[in-house]
Amino acid sequence: MAIFFDNLEMYFNQNGKSMKDTNTDSRRTFIKKASATAASVISYPFLASCATGVKQDKEKLGIALVGLGYYSTDLLAPALQETQHSYLAGIVTGTPEKEKIWKEKYGIPEKNIYNYENYDEIANNPDIDIIYVVLPNSMHAEYTIRAAKAGKHVICEKPMAMNAAECEAMIKACKDNNVALSIGYRMHFEPHTQEVMRIGQEQELGPVKMVCAGAGFTMPNASKDHWKVKKAMGGGAMMDMGVYSLQAARYVTGEEPISVSAQAINTRKEMFNEVDETMMFQLEFPSGAMANLHTSFGVSMNYLDARCGKGWIKMDPFSAYRNIKAQTSKAVLEYPVINQQAAQMDEVAQCIKEGKPMRVPGEEGLKDMKVVDAIYRSAGTGENIIL
Ligand code: NAD
Repeated sequence: MAIFFDNLEMYFNQNGKSMKDTNTDSRRTFIKKASATAASVISYPFLASCATGVKQDKEKLGIALVGLGYYSTDLLAPALQETQHSYLAGIVTGTPEKEKIWKEKYGIPEKNIYNYENYDEIANNPDIDIIYVVLPNSMHAEYTIRAAKAGKHVICEKPMAMNAAECEAMIKACKDNNVALSIGYRMHFEPHTQEVMRIGQEQELGPVKMVCAGAGFTMPNASKDHWKVKKAMGGGAMMDMGVYSLQAARYVTGEEPISVSAQAINTRKEMFNEVDETMMFQLEFPSGAMANLHTSFGVSMNYLDARCGKGWIKMDPFSAYRNIKAQTSKAVLEYPVINQQAAQMDEVAQCIKEGKPMRVPGEEGLKDMKVVDAIYRSAGTGENIIL
């Protein structure tokens, strides 16, 4: 089975046979338990504004996908066929041919189809409760802020924006308009990952001493004109897959880094003349924990390895769409395989319906972008950046 993750070109061949997909009842019980545990352990500050306080009566909230590229087409729209609390209500696209295809495939009514010119009119459409921004990274801030001004809740894809300043503007716009904001960090909804977060943060294997993680794929030379290799569009390995390695270090330790060093290495200079092909970065945390992290558009990898006082945690892959594998020095972690995107969108919708805070609020994306800003500064100057 080909498991795609974060890019069409990258896949893992895995048969998934080792995963014990339990019966529906135990699966439900587990997911409920895992969500409750993770929410109580993870120290993400929940935004008061994410809990709008306004309960929504609809059984399912309508999501409009903005940008119908790879991720929307291959992952989010199919996931929305499996959701219980949300559904694919609308689309925003600049390509008229896609309007026809999506309308027919998903039965989207004409009145819920928008383009980039009439996007703001979505404010008048009661079918759309949540706008999901799935555009190139340079467009995240603008389309999130416009969605907030239209009075719609927002899910914005990772990385949250081009820099921390944009993230702050997005958070403010959502607060000002009393709408929820969540970032598309799907791993927070994945059971193995939730358990690894708990083990690390509760120091079940002793204090976390060192986290090593790498996320990358081999981008073919034919992609030389893709927006992911253009600086102005928010390209670069760090922006794309690097945030997964960074997240790994942050969610295993449960801490924010206090110092950052980074080195960019570009081997295919004809293709990577604006952005980083590979980024190596090292973090230091207040507890003394360290992280040695990397990301690349030239190396296929997806692993996490944490060394703790009394044992270790390994995940390989740790951020694929399916078949996440996790093991500690004590046990193999066996949890159900879930549709991460469906779980993510459903939980966001459910929290909005019940007026509850987001598991992955805008602040979580902002924390990453503060570090990403420092990583680019360090890679550019060669300095160790103190945060
Ligand atoms: P993509 O290039 O396949 O799709 C981007 C879409 O934006 C296309 O439909 C394109 O037509 C549209 N677009 C509008 N204006 C554009 C412009 N000026 N230039 C280029 N495209 C424009 O990209 P993608 O892989 O779907 O990624 C979209 C976002 O989703 C990115 O932020 C990416 O990081 C994120 N993503 C997240 C995951 C995940 O697992 N969470 C996976 C893949 C992508």
